[in-house]
Amino acid sequence: MIEVTRSHSFKEAILDIVGAGNLLIDEQIKNHTYTKLGGVADFFVTPESVEQIQALVHLAKEEDIPFTLLGNGSNLIVRDGGIRGIVLNLEKLQTICHQGEMVIAQGGASIIDTSYYALEQSLSGLEFACGIPGTVGGALYMNAGAYGGEIKDCLARAVVIDRSGNLLTLTVEQLDLAYRTSNIAKNDYIVIEAHFNLKKADQAKIKQQMDILTEQRESKQPLEYPSCGSVFKRPPGYFAGKLIQDSGLQGKGIGGAEVSTKHAGFIVNKNHATAAEYIAVIEMVQAKVKEKYGVELEREVRIIGEDN
Ligand SMILES: Cc1cc2nc3c(=O)[nH]c(=O)nc-3n(C[C@H](O)[C@H](O)[C@H](O)COP(=O)(O)OP(=O)(O)OC[C@H]3O[C@@H](n4cnc5c(N)ncnc54)[C@H](O)[C@@H]3O)c2cc1C
Repeated sequence: MIEVTRSHSFKEAILDIVGAGNLLIDEQIKNHTYTKLGGVADFFVTPESVEQIQALVHLAKEEDIPFTLLGNGSNLIVRDGGIRGIVLNLEKLQTICHQGEMVIAQGGASIIDTSYYALEQSLSGLEFACGIPGTVGGALYMNAGAYGGEIKDCLARAVVIDRSGNLLTLTVEQLDLAYRTSNIAKNDYIVIEAHFNLKKADQAKIKQQMDILTEQRESKQPLEYPSCGSVFKRPPGYFAGKLIQDSGLQGKGIGGAEVSTKHAGFIVNKNHATAAEYIAVIEMVQAKVKEKYGVELEREVRIIGEDN
């Protein structure tokens, strides 16, 4: 356990834990989110070990300082006023390895890299994730899925830290993954490591499937603009994109943010939008679809942080 000297200021206490190369003060969150939105983070911290994370959790709890996890920022909109307290990012914890048919990836590893690592080992099961631009931690938190596959189908267990700093190993059942949600969200767990239960298969067939999914993604999604992917969950009995398209909202925008003309489920940051503008477009879409079809569109993307 890393001891924190009590007489230090909060900043010095963080430096004691992670060292100077792993703390940025007043860091621009827009440099870390896919939408290129968001104000500043008070303390942007990139720990290098599990022990450092545990010490940060203890410090934040003792000092009653808010604590926020940021993965690749591909499913988050951070408001223009930024995030107070500690923003924890696991970019220094990206190791991927395997034991037999089990691929083990740290929480900060990219889920795309993890799926390509599985391909190299001729292991099948993560093909669906080859274009999801999040971290392993973010993918478990959201139970990310695409093209009929989801994390729930191939996850065996995860190592997490709870908000008291305890290291726990939880099975996929205990994590209770469901459509774009999990126990990780409910319990504020920090995902440190994920164990994916894959199956040996023909490497050429795995690659072929990944190439098909990549082609589909590139042809249908506006990947040339910053976005957070599909903004809304699939409403029962409908497709969000179709409802938005049929409401005539494609190309409609506020400030620099607009509903994509290529994929109606995406809202793109076309021209230096603020988070307030992006959120206003989300609300405009929800209001219009409700008015026209009586359907409530529930957000898949999370909105966090403070207004300006
Ligand atoms: C172009 C594009 C395409 C996309 N396509 C898909 C798709 O096909 N399918 C899909 O499901 N999603 C898709 N997404 C959304 C997004 O990529 C996924 O939800 C992804 O899993 C989010 O991971 P992240 O690391 O970016 O998480 P973030 O956006 O950084 O965070 C999301 C949530 O996870 C939490 N979190 C992050 N890391 C951890 C951790 N280590 N431990 C605990 N909690 C953590 C955060 O606190 C936050 O609440 C897409 C996004 C974009 C921009």
